[in-house]
Amino acid sequence: MNKHDSERIAGLLNSLNYKPTAHIIQADIIVLNSCSVRQASEDKAFGLIKNWQQYRNKKKNLIIIVTGCMPGRDKNGVLKEKIKGVDLWFGIDELPMLPKRLGGLDYNFKKDYLSIAPLRQNSAQAFVTIQTGCNNFCSYCAVPYARGRERNRPVRDILTEVKKLATKGCLEITLLGQVVNRYIAPDRKNFNPKNPFKTRDDFAALLWELNQSAGWRKKIKRINFTASDPQYFNEAQIEALKLPSQVNYLHLPAQNGDNAVLKKMNRKYTREQYIKLVKKIRLARPDIALGTDLIVGFCGETKKQFKNTLDFYKKCDFDIAYTAIYSERSGTAAAKAAKAGVKTFQDSIPQLEKKRRWHELQELMEKTTFRKNQKYLDKIVEVMVEKCENGICSGNSGEMKLVQFLGKSNLIGKIVKVKITRPEMWVLRGEISEANV
Ligand code: SF4
Repeated sequence: MNKHDSERIAGLLNSLNYKPTAHIIQADIIVLNSCSVRQASEDKAFGLIKNWQQYRNKKKNLIIIVTGCMPGRDKNGVLKEKIKGVDLWFGIDELPMLPKRLGGLDYNFKKDYLSIAPLRQNSAQAFVTIQTGCNNFCSYCAVPYARGRERNRPVRDILTEVKKLATKGCLEITLLGQVVNRYIAPDRKNFNPKNPFKTRDDFAALLWELNQSAGWRKKIKRINFTASDPQYFNEAQIEALKLPSQVNYLHLPAQNGDNAVLKKMNRKYTREQYIKLVKKIRLARPDIALGTDLIVGFCGETKKQFKNTLDFYKKCDFDIAYTAIYSERSGTAAAKAAKAGVKTFQDSIPQLEKKRRWHELQELMEKTTFRKNQKYLDKIVEVMVEKCENGICSGNSGEMKLVQFLGKSNLIGKIVKVKITRPEMWVLRGEISEANV
């Protein structure tokens, strides 16, 4: 989501006639689109801002802007107070105010952040925001404070944007939303009357609209979405995973594999419900690759609870997991409870123990990923080629696995068939298949 926000920032600055510079030293404006998911990201932002102050000697009028999650969640101004040398500090929802703040005279006020056209880096692949903000308030998470409450984009606007992308040669779209599968269409009347999901589930209905094989829609070869929430995944959405352009990958954040921890995290499902859901998804789409997010060392997590996460991982047999060590984020429900002296919400696991758990989980993930990747040996996968360096092309398969093969740069932006000859842990190596000819 932040990556896509950066494209919107670039789009807005471009419309004000600002162009990217090759080197930061040449810049008149430096924008930092910050992330608050972990303390480490915020520490990095602090470091960068401090470092950029040296450029002020060379550019007296340099403007340093910080947007994104740090200002978004900084309701009481504590973070701003700590950071010195920032000229503009605002949450991403206030992006439309940037021209005014920069002093643009012909400023045409756009009320909504979603109405700013992103400047995309890549014409074959695009992020498409369908929702922003979140109402879930997981106890560890700063997003609802940083990005505000959930807002869903009209179906008509989404289809118009994807149509434009398709006519410009886009082959792959990733629908974005904080809880993407809780999408609620503000304009249901714009669903096709023949849409079989339109009375069942808005997100499945949106996927159906984008998966049609007529006109511009057939140009979109791959549809991905992130991030979904297990509590909203229903039968209609499971069925929609089988639609023809859906990628063979699902990112389904679990966050933990222990029921007591999940409850404390304010995640509204149990490990049993999650495992049952995975079974149903695999029944509908047996080869689907499954990814998740997991947090270790959440407030008071016991060794037994952590073992439950390891066991849960084995049961779900994930292809990939993005694992994080819990770090308290000020302003969240967990941090507020801890501050108020609630014992169960104290960030009580020592850092060394958190790291040990992270490594143990990482090891399990690596072993599982390597084992699961072996099934691709001698198989042909379709790769969306993203780059080519020194004669080696790389890109993701429909399972969102990184694939590398010998090829030329004219393949960038194309989907090609590749036969896998050496599946490794983080990359499937292969050769371009004769099936392309
Ligand atoms: Fe944060 Fe939970 Fe919302 Fe995801 S669903 S953005 S983790 S509050």
